[in-house]
Amino acid sequence: MQRPYNFSPGPSTLPIAVLERAALELLNWPDEDGKPCGMSVMEMSHRGSEFISIYRKAMANLRTLLAVPDHFKILFLQGGALLQNSVVPLNLCTSPESVVAFVRTGAWSGKSLIEASRYCLAKCAVNAEINGCFTSIPNPATWEIANDAEYVHICSNETIHGVEFHELPDLKKLGSKAELVVDCSSDIASGPMDWTRIGLAFAGAQKNLGIAGLTLVFVREDLLGRAQKICPEVMNYTIQSENESMLNTPPTYAIYMAGLVFEWLLSEGGLLAMQKKNKEKARLLYATIDNSSYYSNNVDSECRSLMNVPFYIQDKAKLEAFLHGATQHGLLGLKGHKSVGGLRASLFNAMTLAGTESLVAYLKWFELENAS
Ligand code: PMP
Repeated sequence: MQRPYNFSPGPSTLPIAVLERAALELLNWPDEDGKPCGMSVMEMSHRGSEFISIYRKAMANLRTLLAVPDHFKILFLQGGALLQNSVVPLNLCTSPESVVAFVRTGAWSGKSLIEASRYCLAKCAVNAEINGCFTSIPNPATWEIANDAEYVHICSNETIHGVEFHELPDLKKLGSKAELVVDCSSDIASGPMDWTRIGLAFAGAQKNLGIAGLTLVFVREDLLGRAQKICPEVMNYTIQSENESMLNTPPTYAIYMAGLVFEWLLSEGGLLAMQKKNKEKARLLYATIDNSSYYSNNVDSECRSLMNVPFYIQDKAKLEAFLHGATQHGLLGLKGHKSVGGLRASLFNAMTLAGTESLVAYLKWFELENAS
């Protein structure tokens, strides 16, 4: 059976090879030597040797895949990326009066600013919103980063507005001593990451790296040990890092699934290979949109997202017909976020070129049928 293509923004499509392996191992997980252990991963103690082996392998593969330097700790936490908006200031800010700068390039960085302001003095270094739209990333040289800012928060890929940093800002070059904090929930592992510019990065796993329930945090070691007293123990990076992220029961099945995705990504050639494929998929879709007067995307070409492509249809009244037809053509999850309307295609790592070609063919067909 041909499965439909799923363009959902997250939870999102998974590699078929990963789903098949999970299905095969569901009832009776086999160890490294292929010996069935008699349990599903969901039934294992997180302290048992079986799960510990799954956990350590996943951790090691993730470090290799993303080329995470040794002086960064990787944490497998819970609560989603949204919780990190409070947890990051609780861990990094030396006091509730600490100044933090936010770069507002879309809905997610905007949310981060509001939430963090409960725990620090959150200041907007730049607000890219124009007439209710986000379509650009102002030049970092124009950002107003307070001298005493302890960190600068960016969202490397705005999942709703489709605005992506293709290069992380170099804060040192801008004359700032602040650390860079990156919410990379929707573009993690879509290409190599420049760790020399990052103090801390976080991401939910459910878009590019697995299923919901697992939150990844990468924190440079020298930033540990400064959590505020009110920071909950399970969200204290130092304590979690000392306990291999197992102060309490971790999201075991989500870690197992992410581990399968890490193995798949490595077997596909790693992040450079993924980046090449992601660029090709995005090129195809943006070219189709740009070459038509029926569809539009207003994001500046230099910061268009490779992962999430929001677009509009000329005749709004045809939106439901577009989505209905798409489902019939085996194309799912194309409705735009409710805050911006329109359409959105998410082209995460597991979306194939064939899936993208199928979407493009449908766009062309729908335009021919409906354009006036
Ligand atoms: N940041 C970004 C960029 C996101 O896309 C999302 C989810 N769509 C979040 C944060 C929130 O993630 P979660 O639902 O895992 O809390």
